[in-house]
Amino acid sequence: MPKLVVKHLKKNFGDLEVLKDLNFEVEEGEVVCIIGPSGSGKSTFLRCMNRLEEITGGSVIIDGVDLADPSQNINKVRENIGMVFQHFNLFPHLTVLENIMLAPDELKDETSEETRKTALSLLETVGLSDKADVYPKSLSGGQKQRVAIARALAMKPDIMLFDEPTSALDPEMVGDVLEVMKKLAREGMTMLVVTHEMGFAKEVADHVVFMDEGYIMEEGTPDQVFNHPQNERTKDFLEKVL
Ligand code: ADP
Ligand code: MG
Repeated sequence: MPKLVVKHLKKNFGDLEVLKDLNFEVEEGEVVCIIGPSGSGKSTFLRCMNRLEEITGGSVIIDGVDLADPSQNINKVRENIGMVFQHFNLFPHLTVLENIMLAPDELKDETSEETRKTALSLLETVGLSDKADVYPKSLSGGQKQRVAIARALAMKPDIMLFDEPTSALDPEMVGDVLEVMKKLAREGMTMLVVTHEMGFAKEVADHVVFMDEGYIMEEGTPDQVFNHPQNERTKDFLEKVL
């Protein structure tokens, strides 16, 4: 059974049709990169994966559970899906460690000591062991984003969604964040990544999806999409960004 199945997904904002009949599957452990021009629906698509947006039609099925099924506890489903945004949204009044421990402390059935241990080991994973007790304002953008990734991982999700995680960063910060994401990918995390980092997509993605105007225009392996695009829109887009 695929980890994630999207069937005939539609999303409207009022009269505006933003997602138009998307069909899509992700296997466990796969890394899928979603590329496409601004306004094509990439963020909305990602937000439908954990019901940050209510879907207008079709279904999103994770581990066999339909997110739209009213008998499902959406909060439980969400706990298994980590999300990292372009802007890190760390809590300024909490230390790095407190930011990471907040959600599991509230939601996970584990002792505070266990939560703390996990948080410290995640800080090590993202290369910020020395920053546990500082406040976000003293971190660089790249460090904040790595804390945001650790915070999402603290809930022990089995799918991670990334929405342009490096777009707000100074160029010299991008590499460290991408390295953390590569490490996660190697460890077998199922990942959906909206990105403009074509190098990352080529290197890490198992599957690349090109979206335009609310449609999946083309999808395939990085080699298929980047080196042998079939759709004129994909070719146009790649000419502009590569
Ligand atoms: P992308 O991430 O590819 O840039 P988005 O998913 O953010 O695209 O947006 C797709 C379209 O949906 C855009 O036309 C955008 O203006 C519109 N849109 C996104 N969110 C909302 C919203 N909450 N209300 C109304 N329109 C929205
Ligand atoms: Mg977006």
